[in-house]
Amino acid sequence: MEKTEKIWMNGKFIDWDDSRVHILTHALHYATAVFESLRCYNTAKGPATFRMREHFERFMRSGKTYSMKIPYSPEDLSRAVKELIRLNKVKECYVRPLAYRGYGEMGLNPSKNPVDVSLALWPWGPYLGEEGQKKGVRCKISSWCRVDSRILPSGAKASANYANSVLAKIEALDCGYDEAIQLNLNGLVAEGPGENILMIKDGLLITPPEGAGALEGITLNSVLEISRELGIPFLRRDIPREELFNAGEIFFTGTAAEITPVREIDGRIIGNGGRGPLTEKIQKKFFDIVKGKEEKYYQWLDFV
Ligand code: PMP
Repeated sequence: MEKTEKIWMNGKFIDWDDSRVHILTHALHYATAVFESLRCYNTAKGPATFRMREHFERFMRSGKTYSMKIPYSPEDLSRAVKELIRLNKVKECYVRPLAYRGYGEMGLNPSKNPVDVSLALWPWGPYLGEEGQKKGVRCKISSWCRVDSRILPSGAKASANYANSVLAKIEALDCGYDEAIQLNLNGLVAEGPGENILMIKDGLLITPPEGAGALEGITLNSVLEISRELGIPFLRRDIPREELFNAGEIFFTGTAAEITPVREIDGRIIGNGGRGPLTEKIQKKFFDIVKGKEEKYYQWLDFV
């Protein structure tokens, strides 16, 4: 990864190489951590973060779900992110806020451990590659079902959920694919290990409903808003896996993956076998918005 100069930890800006934790940090052993991911894009008016308020609001909700009181407000954290971008002199970057149970006690009761908070950022290209974003990626339906709310809260962006994501990712790569698609315990489509999934069928944009086991993505929400403007009707309903094989177009959304088309699933070619026309239209609009070319959407940007 590409290093930057400073990291924010518990209110202080420290050197990248000095951001250390104790080996008995609770979260390292028991995954008692929640995190966020957001991006900053360069615009004609300088760097701007995308939907930072929504990301920090979700951060707070994830913390609350795990009874972790994050000792900073979304406003405090937003100010710190902007300052960190300025200090690191980056124009475009990925930002990783993390809140974790720190060093203090061992054992499963985390209540005596501090809630430590950090913000780190670094330049990071499209998660599934630039080529993937243009031509689409090849996916495998994972043998690992997505975490279920009866087991772990799938609506919280908690580190624990990503053990499940990591298993799905490793399996997909080992089988020669780029990414996994995970089903829920009912065998219906949930999401990618780090992305929401949408399909286009007869001009209709379809994505699984809240409750299907996916994280409520902020990029997904943005894409649904964009579709409204573009006049593309959308529907939230369950998707059985076989419907994916016969979709006209499929794409992933996520802060890291942005908008990435899916061109193949388990050996079946999806649609035209590349980036579909509606996917391209939505993708173009999305990048125009994040890069500050659409004044109408300035409320989603926070200029640094
Ligand atoms: N699902 C999972 C499991 C994720 O990790 C992410 C990335 N945060 C998403 C969906 C997409 O969410 P967002 O668009 O808010 O980044």
